[in-house]
Amino acid sequence: MLAHRLCSIKPSPTLSLNQKANEMKSFGIDVINLTLGESDFDTPSYASAGATEFIRKGLTRYTAVDGILPLKQKICEKFKNDNQLTYQPSEIMVSTGGKQVIFNAMMATLNPDDEVIIPAPYWVSYVDIVQIFGGRCVIIPTSSDTDYKLTPEQLENAINHKTKWLILNSPSNPTGAVYTDEELLALSKVLMTYNHVHILSDDIYEYLIYDQEKFYNIVTVEPLLQKRTLIVNGVSKSHAMTGWRIGYGAGESSLIKAMTMLQSQSTSNPCSVAQGAALAALSNEHTLLPIWKDDYQKRRNFVVFEISKMHNFSCILPKGAFYVYVDCASMMNQLSLKTDVELCNLLLETYHVAVVPGSAFGCDQTFRISYATSQDQLQKAIDRLHSLDRSVCSND
Ligand code: PLP
Repeated sequence: MLAHRLCSIKPSPTLSLNQKANEMKSFGIDVINLTLGESDFDTPSYASAGATEFIRKGLTRYTAVDGILPLKQKICEKFKNDNQLTYQPSEIMVSTGGKQVIFNAMMATLNPDDEVIIPAPYWVSYVDIVQIFGGRCVIIPTSSDTDYKLTPEQLENAINHKTKWLILNSPSNPTGAVYTDEELLALSKVLMTYNHVHILSDDIYEYLIYDQEKFYNIVTVEPLLQKRTLIVNGVSKSHAMTGWRIGYGAGESSLIKAMTMLQSQSTSNPCSVAQGAALAALSNEHTLLPIWKDDYQKRRNFVVFEISKMHNFSCILPKGAFYVYVDCASMMNQLSLKTDVELCNLLLETYHVAVVPGSAFGCDQTFRISYATSQDQLQKAIDRLHSLDRSVCSND
């Protein structure tokens, strides 16, 4: 009954671990859930007011498939003001979350065996989406030595005549790594010599960046790549609006047109009322952002500092997003565990801390902590990791 290609598609591991953690909670177990990739802050009231305004005005019917014009114009303004990039509304489409933009793009462009270069660790859905449309993922492993970032040499070696896309995600989920302008410029030099390669720049964590670090994407450092790049962004992470499901893409108008055509035959327009909320979110001065960022940065510093004191866990300092990516090779070795999944199961079942194994992101012997949770919960989780670390050390 089901198509063959679905055999290799997996449900999102973050969602299934979250479910297991919630089941344990329902049995009264005090589980600290650090699996989820969403803000613990509330949607700003001005965004919610934008939605109620749409309801009050009866703006509750179908809209243009690719989003209402005022929202697309606002997105163009955002690109102009924040990234110094010029886009016309015909180069913008609004979808049901950033995920649908990526889904539309792969659906619109991939032919069987087209290759998509994905640096690992990667956001879990890239691989499955590419596979759904018969593309071949070329996974390029990175390590903590390069702060989990792709190097120009790796990129050069991975490109061939079948390469259709390179996916770049900065700040990164799961590592929190942020590419500098120099690093992107070096990658762009390689890309400039291969005209057939398109770039998907996933900027969804653009605003969650710390330590006075500046945000760049491949187009801001090399404007000649604008026509070949699809920028993916949205309000999910920047405005704590994951449930509203509004994401957008900016790219060459023929690509946007093809993606819009496909969306017209699947979900049609994104929810009209959620578009009202997104319009209000992007129209207001985001006064909460510095407060959120300050809070996230404190939590990140806390988690990284505590992990640096442990003997069998280590991590790099993530410059963005709300994740700490932990190397657990030493702990696995001490416990004679073969996979990070076994370690994460142990953490959940014995220490009641839920984290996502790095193998889900294409990088073994690691796990991801989401610090988008209260300081109180983080403190408890860290205490439990310390207690595992101490128990292992005392057995030495
Ligand atoms: N890209 C990355 C790297 C993500 O982490 C996520 C969500 O977790 C998305 C895209 C999709 O975001 P949305 O909720 O807008 O679909």
